[in-house]
Amino acid sequence: MSSSTATNVTEGALRSVVDTASTLIAMHPVYGSTGQGRALAYLEQRMHALGARTRRARIFDEEIEAHPCYCHVENFGGQFSNYRETLRENLLSEIDFGGDGPTILCNGHLDVEFVLAPTQWTVAESWRRPRLDGGKLYGRGSSDMLGAIACFLATAEYLIHEASKLSGRLLLHFVVDEEIGGNGTLATLTTLGEKVDAAIIGEPTDGAVCTRSRSFEQFKIVCHGRPRHMCFGANDENALAQASETYQLIEALDGWCREQVPSDHAFRSLCVGVVSGGSDAAVPAPTAELLVTAALPPELSLSRVLARLAAQLEHRFGRDRCPQVEPYGIRFPGSTMGHEPLAAALRAGIERRGGHSGSANFPSACDARIFEAFGIPAVICGPGSLQRAHGPDEYIGVDELASYTDLLNDTLGRAFRGELELRRP
Ligand SMILES: [Zn+2]
Repeated sequence: MSSSTATNVTEGALRSVVDTASTLIAMHPVYGSTGQGRALAYLEQRMHALGARTRRARIFDEEIEAHPCYCHVENFGGQFSNYRETLRENLLSEIDFGGDGPTILCNGHLDVEFVLAPTQWTVAESWRRPRLDGGKLYGRGSSDMLGAIACFLATAEYLIHEASKLSGRLLLHFVVDEEIGGNGTLATLTTLGEKVDAAIIGEPTDGAVCTRSRSFEQFKIVCHGRPRHMCFGANDENALAQASETYQLIEALDGWCREQVPSDHAFRSLCVGVVSGGSDAAVPAPTAELLVTAALPPELSLSRVLARLAAQLEHRFGRDRCPQVEPYGIRFPGSTMGHEPLAAALRAGIERRGGHSGSANFPSACDARIFEAFGIPAVICGPGSLQRAHGPDEYIGVDELASYTDLLNDTLGRAFRGELELRRP
């Protein structure tokens, strides 16, 4: 969305969006923290003040674990081992304008990614001390996606002002656990019990309107060596040497993945996030492991990627010494379809504001697949950029917040006034 475009969002409303986003950033609602509860309480109070019906709903894993979209987070181990015993809540909010207009659901995850490298932020602790500098609001979650949540609140406020002209219902779901597999959204949709015509997921899409998302599919590769006196160890007897070559093969395979879907060429498909092995610096490592995550566009299946990888490993190392590809972590698919009329309306709105609405593929996994599983057509569109997410100096432009709020006010206003048909038969 263009930065120079003037919007109909008042200065006061925009200040309030920035304040809301800053407040949420300062609470740092990361998994397992007290900040998550505080952020929920804050949003609950804000929605109450707007006159919305609001309900905090605890997530009970036993009620949702039979669903194919359920993610067994405890399998991550470490701090997630007691996942099921950890108190997690969503906030469900509803504004009923009356009449038979559409039911539109805005979904925003308030959990944020962990800060893995706090010292790499330019200003110390600015990941949880929101900082406004040069029209950019810095902080963890500013782009992904506390900024969008702040815009949702502003739009709810705008629509309540216009309520006498509107018909239909607006649902606002503020969920947790998106960054760790999506059980928050799964819980909200399991208890929904009503027809939703269209959903908007406010993930940062950098001005694009997306109706497809990528998968999240993990696996590991186990490499083998032979321990012996280091002065007699041949290079191919060290599992770490095999791991290092395997790493290079996966990098090349990532290039192949990009070629298979040229429209997504700019985005990586494979990430080796962990390499481990060996226990004694003076002995060739007997084993080594690479933990890999694939984020594949719907056009490319993991089985195709793994078949190619297996053939390449065997070609390089021979059948006897071939590293083994084994199950690891979690896997879930991408999403393949969305609400086309809503996507078209949002794209037209972005173009009118001087932006370019980009590719329909969201270059990451997200909760869209859960909406698809429940037969709710969704669109992924939100302010900010994934390019800035999960890393140091994450920020969102104040202009992006203004543009997005303006786009939502306009599009949802038209839908609730009956000028834009989003209802499903
Ligand atoms: Zn996100």
